Amino acid sequence: MPSDSLKSSLDTTLSDTKQTPWPAPPEPRTGPLPPDTVDVRVAIVGAGIHGAALARELTLRGVSCALVDRGAIGGGTSQWSSQLLHGGIRYLLTGDIHQMREGLAERATWARIAPWRTKWEAFWMPHRGFFEGMSHRFGIGLYDAWGSERPGWPEELVLGAVPDEVFQADPRSHDSRFTGAVAYADLCTWDKALVKDLAASSEAVRLDFHEVLSFKDHGGELVSAKLKDHRDGGTRTLQADHWVFALGPWIDGAMKDWFKETRKRLRLSSGIHLWFEAPELLKDCQRPWAILRGGGRILFVIPRDGLLQVGTTEREVKDGWVPIVKSEREELFEALEVRLPSIPWRKLPVAFEELGVRPLVAARGAGTDRLSREAVLEQHKKFTNLRLVLGGKLTSARSLMDRLATEMTGIECPQSRTTVLRRWDGQLGTGR
Ligand SMILES: Cc1cc2nc3c(=O)[nH]c(=O)nc-3n(C[C@H](O)[C@H](O)[C@H](O)COP(=O)(O)OP(=O)(O)OC[C@H]3O[C@@H](n4cnc5c(N)ncnc54)[C@H](O)[C@@H]3O)c2cc1C
Repeated sequence: MPSDSLKSSLDTTLSDTKQTPWPAPPEPRTGPLPPDTVDVRVAIVGAGIHGAALARELTLRGVSCALVDRGAIGGGTSQWSSQLLHGGIRYLLTGDIHQMREGLAERATWARIAPWRTKWEAFWMPHRGFFEGMSHRFGIGLYDAWGSERPGWPEELVLGAVPDEVFQADPRSHDSRFTGAVAYADLCTWDKALVKDLAASSEAVRLDFHEVLSFKDHGGELVSAKLKDHRDGGTRTLQADHWVFALGPWIDGAMKDWFKETRKRLRLSSGIHLWFEAPELLKDCQRPWAILRGGGRILFVIPRDGLLQVGTTEREVKDGWVPIVKSEREELFEALEVRLPSIPWRKLPVAFEELGVRPLVAARGAGTDRLSREAVLEQHKKFTNLRLVLGGKLTSARSLMDRLATEMTGIECPQSRTTVLRRWDGQLGTGR
């Protein structure tokens, strides 16, 4: 829950929000106590999907690294996503086919390297009438043809036109404007657990719940950072030859605090999900729905883990973590009520709600829904041994960090696409 002072300063904030705060309070230490001075080849600051994926890439190349986070590993934006490793069906509408095809290829890689953290699904895209149905069949046909590499695809999942009687048996179709649906393939994940598995698949020195107090530089290079351990209040020195900041939506704030840089590298857009408790409804809602909303936006209604996950919205914000505002939640309810009117959305208990802030590479003019989700690896102008990860997605994080690790070390690592992840609990992955 947000603090009282924060709530009263934002009259639009819901008083009963079930949102988790950031950063989370320190968790008990699980690994060994790190030494007072940590000396590694690469220091990674920010342990979301990008930081954790880079730690794995460096380990696969035999390069030492440390993974620093102010909060928990995987405790930032990467735990508040829609949890899809996907090509991005919306790109069919925005025309970003390159990003889609890259996402579809990466989707197959995730299914191979993290079989227990991924689950194939047949998403239904409902349509209004024959002509919309035909255009969906064409677009989805292309999507599934380009994404035909689907390791571990369960044979019982059926793609293409959903039979009328099956569609009508789903309560979401009742009294709605939709006359049918076409099913396409995509991959669901458990985002925070995936980040933790990536971190566990590395030999990185884990410095979670560590705050950077100051940096030392010399000759145009970063040399070391002084860190405060929030678990015991002690300090630690981190020394490294190369530095990577993978701070998600917090990068502009950090660059201002640490180096007084005021240039905005990102624009930030919040998206919320509501997780409904609806056991009766879930009996008949078998498959996830992806409903087109106009402007290339999609309303997801996904049965998972005994709850119904619904999202998401798009609101430009100024910080990497902000409370949910009433209008944002209202927008989601209205979108649901208009499209799926037979379900009493406002009466369903909300188990929890979450807000994530998308880090989008800054561009003027366009609304954030029109900004590219593609990432940029920035070479810092002043510090020649510092790279910044800007923007990006869960789906593309492995391939982007593979590229960055190759650039930094000069070592290619094709095994990154096939080596199965180690689980956070220390077990080696052996499949589902
Ligand atoms: C609503 C929503 C839905 C999304 N859905 C999808 C999806 O379905 N599929 C997909 O591929 N992508 C999706 N995304 C995008 C994806 O979630 C993000 O792009 C991705 O998680 C960003 O990862 P990251 O590692 O860059 O950032 P983060 O996960 O935010 O990691 C940054 C880390 O830096 C840490 N940090 C911040 N400041 C400091 C500091 N000063 N010192 C030390 N550490 C610090 C934070 O604690 C955090 O752990 C979605 C995003 C949102 C918001």
